[in-house]
Amino acid sequence: MCGVLRLRAMDNQQQSTNHSRSSSQLFERAKQLIPGGVNSPVRAFRSVGGSPFFTERASGAHLYTADGNELIDFVCTWGPAIHGHNDPDIAAAIGKALKNGTSFGTPNPYEVEMAELIVDMVPSVEKVRMCNSGTEATMSAIRLARGYTKRDKIIKFAGCYHGHVDSLLVKAGSGALTLGYPDSAGIPSSFAAETIVVEFNDPDALRAVLNEHAANVAAIIVEPFPANCGLILPDAHYLAFLRDQCTQHGIVLIFDEVMTGFRLAAGGVQERVGITPDLTALGKIIGGGLPVGAFGGKAEIMDYLAPLGPVYQAGTLSGNPLAMAAGIAALKKLKTNNPYPLFEKLGMTIRNALINAAIEKGMPLQVPQVGSMFALFFSESPVRNYTDAINSHTERFTQLFRYALDHGVYLPPSAYETCFICTAHDGSDIERAAEVLAAGIKAM
Ligand SMILES: *Cc1c(COP(=O)(O)O)cnc(C)c1O
Repeated sequence: MCGVLRLRAMDNQQQSTNHSRSSSQLFERAKQLIPGGVNSPVRAFRSVGGSPFFTERASGAHLYTADGNELIDFVCTWGPAIHGHNDPDIAAAIGKALKNGTSFGTPNPYEVEMAELIVDMVPSVEKVRMCNSGTEATMSAIRLARGYTKRDKIIKFAGCYHGHVDSLLVKAGSGALTLGYPDSAGIPSSFAAETIVVEFNDPDALRAVLNEHAANVAAIIVEPFPANCGLILPDAHYLAFLRDQCTQHGIVLIFDEVMTGFRLAAGGVQERVGITPDLTALGKIIGGGLPVGAFGGKAEIMDYLAPLGPVYQAGTLSGNPLAMAAGIAALKKLKTNNPYPLFEKLGMTIRNALINAAIEKGMPLQVPQVGSMFALFFSESPVRNYTDAINSHTERFTQLFRYALDHGVYLPPSAYETCFICTAHDGSDIERAAEVLAAGIKAM
């Protein structure tokens, strides 16, 4: 930990309430009570070693740990914090909504405003249903596609993560991959048999599957820029190819934009590349830091949902007024501030610093980057799919992760996650992080 950050960290310590709760003490207590000590597995730091730090407070682009350290954060709560942590506008919106109550169990005005915003911002969405997580969004979108097409099979891509939905935890990315469970235990093989897995960026592989199964395929679900296996960029025309194949075979194309929605453009990847899916899963940013998901798309398909249609989907807290208020504030701020050109610039700055350091060091490094998302693969050639990703030198990523953390920069604790830039990363955060990461590469 460098001197400057240590000093700032001490300021923070004075505000903190209970110094006897160090991260290691908290983790010991947590492990007695919570499986692995965590409520979501990658947080346990298993793949990078050591034990996790506990965060007491977060503000802007910085985390303040239970141990009094201040970190520049590139995880941004795994994507949602696009405006940085504890954004004052979002906090004020939650505070205002809170005065009126936390949940009503009836329709509320916020839901209508949220739906208007989503339909306005996301090109393919004509109607939308709110839920409580990205997992619920993809699970429901798949059920809807099956109900609509009256077909059972779905196609997903190796390394894409769509939440912990049974039929989607097959060759899955994110924590499932990080911790070595791309195919989770506890999923009946009869469920998994309805999921066909194809390598991303490989048109022939998909054609071969469709030749055999097209008439039974309800949906193709894809992260259009897969961001749970590091970051994988789609080849030119690949997403257009998926669109064509779905149209040709009457298959519902589902873009899982839980990560990319509102991040790669106000309208997500579909706006950025001009390709229109039939259904879209949303989450993360849409909740402004509270637990929210949504799925939407063509009215004709969405009207298959209960109470209009035969596909059942529900949620006690769906459309929760506090969550809606937070999300509305987050989305409105994106519309007003248009941070996307700045993200392109900041993303390139980090990318260039990393690439230059690696060249100087003579170490092969790929830094896929798009706008505010980037990842590091210690690999000789560009990573185009899951197989390339798992063949990269993840132990080098781990080394860099540890160096960065020791020097006040928090990268995701896995080579198979994506780093995020937020609007609260100012020039000096980016400069400092670029310096630390470059030094970390040189020190290898
Ligand atoms: C995070 C994520 C999910 C799951 O969302 P949860 O809110 O964690 O359930 C689904 N799909 C993608 C692409 C994600 O990044």
